[in-house]
Order: sequence, then structure tokens, then C-alpha cells
Amino acid sequence: MLIKVAYNGLCGSDVHEFYEGPVAATIDPHPLTGCSVPCVLGHEFSGTVVEVGAGLDDLAIGSVVAVEPIETCGVCPRCAAGRRHLCRRIAFHGYNREGGGLSELTVVRRDMVHVLPAELSAVHGALVEPMAVARRAVRRTRVERGDLVVVHGAGPIGLGAILALRADGVEVVAVDPSSERRSAARALGAREAVDPSDTDIVSMVRDLTDGIGAAGAIDAAGASAAFAAAVRSTRPDGTVVVVAHHHEPLPLRSGSLIFGEVTVTGSSIYDTNDFAWVIKAMQSGAYPLDGWITTIELDRVVEDGFEPLRAHSVNKVLVRLDQRTA
Ligand SMILES: [Zn+2]
Ligand SMILES: [Zn+2]
Repeated sequence: MLIKVAYNGLCGSDVHEFYEGPVAATIDPHPLTGCSVPCVLGHEFSGTVVEVGAGLDDLAIGSVVAVEPIETCGVCPRCAAGRRHLCRRIAFHGYNREGGGLSELTVVRRDMVHVLPAELSAVHGALVEPMAVARRAVRRTRVERGDLVVVHGAGPIGLGAILALRADGVEVVAVDPSSERRSAARALGAREAVDPSDTDIVSMVRDLTDGIGAAGAIDAAGASAAFAAAVRSTRPDGTVVVVAHHHEPLPLRSGSLIFGEVTVTGSSIYDTNDFAWVIKAMQSGAYPLDGWITTIELDRVVEDGFEPLRAHSVNKVLVRLDQRTA
């Protein structure tokens, strides 16, 4: 399907790719797609269907869609077991396929396309991918309505986790050193948002939970101190989910696993259910757009996108492409 891109979000992986890459993109041809650098970045995007391939007649030209930017081999044991998001030959549109969301026009497979309901805009559409990453991390915590979860890091994924947790009726405490990010976390439903540099996170969480600890924690910060606090403030049989990359080995003591019986696990992207869940939740109003999204133009993508993202001085950045195409 040929898509006229409306908005493409920039994420932390794009910043790494731009300044330090190739990381996710490859110098050798990708085993599934044959694509290698140079390639166009962009894997968080929405747009309009402008043309379809032969035999694809179930989608009207002009449909507004969100793109699930992965292609998998379909035959490996992981794909066969329904875990295609863990396929070792996974290819990302925006790293390992021709074109990317920072193109005016790009071609994707039919099975990568999710039609947006009429009440959602293309802005929401570009947010589905990162929000699905956050939603999966939330699912991996196995928490329930009424539980308390600590979200470390209130960047886009942390905020997405807060929104998904609140949509499920879960209480959230957010932890982030940036006061702007803490305000965004509060505005999006965190009952508290605290600064780890002036708060003892472990005792605070114990105080809030009668000494028991939180049901779960999400590490969307990628900082050693955040991970250590997440493990120590989680209750017995609770779950710590790591969704941010760490550049250092994780500081994990066996005592936490043995005497606390805490589960530590990770979360990798999303599956189609996470994508569909986010679109439905957006439809019911669970993803307000105020206060955490900046929209920029493609010709300012470095100055207004990659540079402030690298300096952590903005939250979610969406690049607008539609007006140029028009
Ligand atoms: Zn991303
Ligand atoms: Zn596979």
C-alpha cells in the first residue's frame, strides 16, 4: 500500500541511529528485506492510503491509517509460537526496509496497516507505535485494577505507560529528575511524580503501600539507580519490567530475587493486540494530546527534533509531512 505520510514521530532509537548509527539499520543487506544503509528513518507514522497493490481491495483509497512497522519471517520457532515480535529476522520499516516514515510517500505491506476510526486524527495515528511499546510493558507487569505501579522515567514511553495503566484503573507513581516531565506525568494521571535526586524512592513506596511494596515497576529510565530502586520497592511476587536500554550491566542482587521473590523481566516492542488495544483506548479518550507533544516541520528535523531530543529538552516530537505533499 502506498501511504502519503501525515505525521512521523521521532524516538530515542532514531536519535542513536542519527548520531551513532548504523545501530538498528545494517551495513550488510538485511536477511529478510535485503535493505542496507543508507535508508530513510521513521517507524512511528500515520498517513493516508493513496494507492494499493493488485488484489488489495479491502481498504478504501483515502483511509487514514497507523502503520505497525514490522515485518517478520513467519517461519522461525518464535514466529510459529505466536511471538513474531521476538523474531530474530525482524525488519523495521524505518531501519531495515526501503523508505521510512520520514518520507512523503512510502510503501508498506497490507498486514502492517491499521485503519484509524473516524474520531481519531493522524496525530493520534503517529502515536500508536510508541504507545503500543508502553502498553506491552504494562501488560508484562501482570498488575490489576487498584494496584500501584512505579514508573521510572517520564519520557514518551514512561508517559505512555502511565496512560495505559490509568486506562486499566491502576494507580501510578512516576519518578523523573525533570520537573517538566514530572508535571506531564501528573497531568496524565500519575497520583504522584517525584524527583529521585531528593526523594528516597524505596521508603516512599513502602510508606504508600503499608510497607508491602508496589505491585509492579516499569523501568523506562535506563538508569542503574532507577532499576535498583524498582527492584527494592516491588512487593513479593511483583514484577519489574525493563523497557529502556541500559548501557551498564543491571545492578541486581540475588537477595532481591530470593528473599523478595521479585520477577525481573523485559518487554520488546508489541504485538498486533497491543496496537489494536491502543487504538481502541485512544477512541475512548484515554490518550489526551495536550502538554507532551511538539510538532515540527521536516526541514527543521535536526534543529527542532534530533538536537532537543538528544538534550532531553522535549518530550514527544512529531514531524509533519502532509502539507509538503499537498
Ligand atoms: Zn521507536
Ligand atoms: Zn521469525
